[in-house]
Amino acid sequence: MKIPLSRPEIRRADSAAVNAVLRGPRLSLGKKLEEFERAVASYAGAKHAVAMNSGTSALHVALAALGVGPGDEVIVPSFAFIAVANAVCHAQATPVFVEIEPDTLTLDPVAVERAIARKTRAIVVVHTFGCPADMGKLLTIARRHRIALIEDACEAIGAEFRGEKVGSLGRAGIFAFYPNKQMTTGEGGVLITNDDKLTARARRLRNQGRGASRDWLDQEEIGFSYRLPELNCALGISQLKRLDSVIRRREKIAKEYARGLAGNSDIELPRLKFPDRRISWFTYTVRLSPRFTRADRDAIVKQMAERGIECGRYFAPIHLQPSYRRIGRRSGDLSLTEATAERTISLPFFNRMTGREVGTVSRTLARLLQG
Ligand SMILES: *Cc1c(COP(=O)(O)O)cnc(C)c1O
Repeated sequence: MKIPLSRPEIRRADSAAVNAVLRGPRLSLGKKLEEFERAVASYAGAKHAVAMNSGTSALHVALAALGVGPGDEVIVPSFAFIAVANAVCHAQATPVFVEIEPDTLTLDPVAVERAIARKTRAIVVVHTFGCPADMGKLLTIARRHRIALIEDACEAIGAEFRGEKVGSLGRAGIFAFYPNKQMTTGEGGVLITNDDKLTARARRLRNQGRGASRDWLDQEEIGFSYRLPELNCALGISQLKRLDSVIRRREKIAKEYARGLAGNSDIELPRLKFPDRRISWFTYTVRLSPRFTRADRDAIVKQMAERGIECGRYFAPIHLQPSYRRIGRRSGDLSLTEATAERTISLPFFNRMTGREVGTVSRTLARLLQG
């Protein structure tokens, strides 16, 4: 591919930080873990951070640490990365799929409230593509029904709702650092929270259920093997230092796309601005106009690839996946999710993308849409 969908940005300082760990004595549960956790908590405005080996692990631990288990229902969007539903199933609970809002492609608060039932234990809101969901309304609903609100901010580190960083607003927030995210640790995830008890339990669950004393007979409960190695923590510390400038650069790329694609009635562009939110751009995802079918969209993605431009089809509805047709429960009408998923195209988007590359992608897409 000449222009990939995403590309991690690794600088000399990052490599140096990782190499320094390799020369030291500790490769797991050391100083870099503590330092990375403090840095993420401080960046996001939360009291605690617990780092794990993936975002999905962190989501699973958040649910387990809140006591979500068999017989419980957890409200999630269907237009989202599959990890959201998988984590609910790892906790042996049932995902209940709820509709999104057209503007932000995040959970619709009205549909969420309608889906709340006796068994509902938690809501996982996803700040999809880096755009904050309507946290004002969702927090009110969660409080009114005494249900935990977990923020999946895996695509939205640095995004803000009414001046506060997303991830820090709910009972727990999750970030992820796979190589296609705004910053990477190779693989990795972090749970943030202000809750001391939740933190202690998450730390325990991350490391086989071992208590803080690390005594020989200190297995308080059955946990997981979700530790994040020191190498990855060192990379994370180094990447986090640059995050603010990375977010600004990505904002600039989104604006260049908006200019490059403006005035084309075949393409609906993502909203650039909200009065009460700041987007942390994860992808630049456009929607084709209703005159295009899913087959048209797939053909265009293929033709883009043939021209060296890699595009994504984020996201296929989770409730339609073979693995979820049986175990998930859909709440109400998910027609917007289905209609949106058929016509989205995620365009190449990465830190070091040049204006020229944005121009090439925009022109190629416009030409292919003309047929
Ligand atoms: C990236 C991501 C995750 C976590 O993915 P991992 O690969 O497990 O780190 C979770 N939820 C969403 C919405 C994501 O985009």
